Amino acid sequence: MSVASLVRTTLGLKHHKVTKVVDSGGRVIVHLDWIRRRWPPCSVCGTYDKVRDRLPERSWRHVPLWGIAVELRYRPCRVACSCCEAIKVEAIPWSAGKSPISEPLIVVLATWSRLLAWDVVASLFGVSWSTVVEAVDRAVAYGRARKDYSRVTLIGIDELSRRRGHIYHTNVYDLETRS
Ligand SMILES: [Zn+2]
Repeated sequence: MSVASLVRTTLGLKHHKVTKVVDSGGRVIVHLDWIRRRWPPCSVCGTYDKVRDRLPERSWRHVPLWGIAVELRYRPCRVACSCCEAIKVEAIPWSAGKSPISEPLIVVLATWSRLLAWDVVASLFGVSWSTVVEAVDRAVAYGRARKDYSRVTLIGIDELSRRRGHIYHTNVYDLETRS
């Protein structure tokens, strides 16, 4: 399997294609483009519509391959959205807002951060500590936005000390489901 098809599969591309993969100073740069005969979805309402123009190229840090840094590059489309009656940026499947880290990398960093110290995760994936913090924040926000607390009726609260000193974590449990 080539790097291009690996990226295509892991990003779940439908309206975009990999145009080239370049080795640039030990870093893999994956160039992406929009498939011209398809209409991309509006990032606000999801309506598929015509492309009006393109924004300047953006780059995203992606999941490293065998320890080699991978970067995605793409010029986002602006859609003439008939539903919003305005020009809107397309919904980019691998991107979360203006974050310079790809969605799959956010998931990988946030998953490892549950098991390892955040500075260890940063060093393993060759990213800064603040990138790991951003990934965890985004994963938590994603989870909270989709969590349904309407059936929780009984909670337990516990304060646990973390490391030495006075750093505490407050854990809130659903006592009925014990989660
Ligand atoms: Zn729209």
